[in-house]
Amino acid sequence: TQARGPDPDLPIISERLSGAHKILVLSGKGGVGKSTFASVLSQGLAQSSEVGLVDVDICGPSVPKLLGCENEQVHQSSNGWSPVYVQDGLSVMSVGFMLPSDSESVVWRGPRKTGMIKQFLRDVDWGQLDYMVFDTPPGTSDEHLAVVQLLSGISGAVLVTTPQEVALQDVRKEIDFCRKAKVPIIGVVENMSGFVCPGCQGESRIFYPSTGGAKKMCEELRVPLLGSIPLDPRIGRACDFGSSFLDTCADSPAATAYLDIIAQI
Ligand code: ADP
Repeated sequence: TQARGPDPDLPIISERLSGAHKILVLSGKGGVGKSTFASVLSQGLAQSSEVGLVDVDICGPSVPKLLGCENEQVHQSSNGWSPVYVQDGLSVMSVGFMLPSDSESVVWRGPRKTGMIKQFLRDVDWGQLDYMVFDTPPGTSDEHLAVVQLLSGISGAVLVTTPQEVALQDVRKEIDFCRKAKVPIIGVVENMSGFVCPGCQGESRIFYPSTGGAKKMCEELRVPLLGSIPLDPRIGRACDFGSSFLDTCADSPAATAYLDIIAQI
C-alpha cells in the first residue's frame, strides 16, 4: 500500500482562516454551560471584533437555538457557503442549519463528522475574522481530533466546568487532552458557582464540593482560573428566547463575571 501524503486541504484551510485567533471551548461533561459560554463569549467579542462561531457539536448542535437563529438556512455563494449572520460582527455555522427539523437526529460515524467539520473550515466564506470560537461536544472524541488536526495554530482552549467534583474529574481529562494535543490552555471557567437569591441577596453555593471546587483544582494542575459565573435563571431564559444575555441583563453579577472573563481571552 502507498503511504498517504499530507492532506492537500490543510494549506487551503490555513490560508482561509489566517489572521483569526482560534479558541476552543471544551468541557468534560454535558450540561455545564459550555455552549452557553461559547455563545456569550462570541457575542461579547463581537462587540469590537469580527467573530465566527463554529458549532462542531455535530450530533447535538445547540448554538442556533441559543442565538435565536434556528430557522435560518445556509446559502451557497460563488465563494462557498455563506455563514448565518446573527448580529454585527458575528457569523455562525452549524449542522443545525442543515437539518429539516429541530428534532431530527444526526447519527453519523467519525469520518462523516470529520468531513462536515472540514467543510465548515474549508468551504465556508468566513471573510476576514479576528476570532473563531469553536463550540465542541463534551469529552474528547472525533470532533476534537478533527479540529486539532485540521487547524494550524490554535490560540488556546477554555475549559468550562461546574464546581462539582464529578465535573472537575472530567476537566482533568480535558487538560490532559490539551497537553497531549499541544493545545495551549487559556484557562478554566467555573459556571453555576453560586446562586444569589433575588429576595434576600444571600448567596447559596449550591454545587460546592468539600474538595474546594475549580480554584483548588486549577492551583493543583497549574492552569489559570479565568473566573466564576453564578447561576442566574435569566441566563437560561435568554438562551431559550435566543436573546443576548449581555444586553438584557447588563448589570447583573453574571454579566459582569462574563465580561471580566472575556477581557482575559
Ligand atoms: P452544555 O453545552 O455544557 O451542554 P448548555 O450551555 O447547553 O450546556 O447549558 C445547559 C443549561 O444550563 C441551559 O439550559 C443553559 O441555559 C443553562 N445555563 C448555563 N449557564 C447557566 C448559568 N450560569 N445560570 C443559569 N443557567 C445556566
